[in-house]
Amino acid sequence: PDVHEVRVAMTASRKAGPRLIAVGSGKGGVGKSTVSANLAIAMARLGRKVGIIDADIYGPSQPTLLGTSERPEAKDKQLIPVEAHGIRLLSVGQLVSPGHALAWRGPMASGALTQLVEGDWSDREILIIDLPPGTGDVQLSLIQKSRPAGAVIVSTPQDLALIDARRAVDLFRKTEVPILGLIENMAGYQCPNCGETSDPFGSGGAEAAAAALDVPFLGRLPLSASLREASDAGRPPAAGEGPAAAAFRMLAEAVLA
Ligand code: ADP
Repeated sequence: PDVHEVRVAMTASRKAGPRLIAVGSGKGGVGKSTVSANLAIAMARLGRKVGIIDADIYGPSQPTLLGTSERPEAKDKQLIPVEAHGIRLLSVGQLVSPGHALAWRGPMASGALTQLVEGDWSDREILIIDLPPGTGDVQLSLIQKSRPAGAVIVSTPQDLALIDARRAVDLFRKTEVPILGLIENMAGYQCPNCGETSDPFGSGGAEAAAAALDVPFLGRLPLSASLREASDAGRPPAAGEGPAAAAFRMLAEAVLA
C-alpha cells in the first residue's frame, strides 16, 4: 500500500523511556546522518543524556561519523549501546559486516531495527533515531514501532530535495508524529580562501517551504568542506569548539525548545 494513502491509527501507548526524536529526510545524501550525530552530541553538551539509533539500513554511517568500531554487547538478549563522544549508539552497521546491510529486505531489516529500538536505553533522556532516507514501508513500520514523540526533517535547498521533504512531512503527519521542524543543510558555501559566501542552490527555499508546509524552520547549516572532512574522519564538529559546534548547539536548543 502507498503510505501516502494510509491514515495510520496510532493507538497503543509506548512504555515510559527516553524522549524519542526521529530525524528523517525525503531522500538520501542530504546530510541527515551528519545532522543526527551532531545534534545528539550538541544535546549531550547541553547536559542531556542522549542516545542515537542508526536505523539507516541502506547506509549506516553513525559508526564512521562517531569514530567508533566497537560492537555492542548483549545482556539478557538486550543490546548495550556503545559510548562515543558522550552519547550512546546502536547502529545497523554494528550488526553486520560492512556492505551487507544493503542486501537486507523487509523481515530481516525489521528484526534488526527492533533489536536496536529495544536496546538498553534505560538511562537515556533523549533518543535520536536516524531514519533510513525516504518515505517507504521501512520508515513507516519503524515509526509505528518506535512511536517518536517528535520528528525533525533535514533537507537541502534544491527544489527536488524540498519536494522530497514534503513527502517526509506527509509521512509524519499521517503517523501523527508532531513535526518539531525543518533543518536546511548545505545552504550557502563560504569559500575557504576568500571568505565570500555563495548560494549555489539559491537561498531561502527551505525557509519558504517550511512556512508553506506550516512546520517550524529550525535553522540552516552551510556547505562546509571542513565539516565534511571532520565527519569522514570520525571527529564530529559538534564535539569541538568551532563555528559548526556553535551552529549545532543552536539547532539542538531549537529542537529541544
Ligand atoms: P544522509 O544521511 O542524508 O544520506 P550524510 O549525513 O551521510 O547524508 O551526508 C552525505 C555526505 O554529505 C557526507 O559525505 C557528509 O560528510 C556530507 N555533508 C553533510 N552535511 C554537509 C555539510 N553541511 N557540508 C559539507 N558536507 C556535508
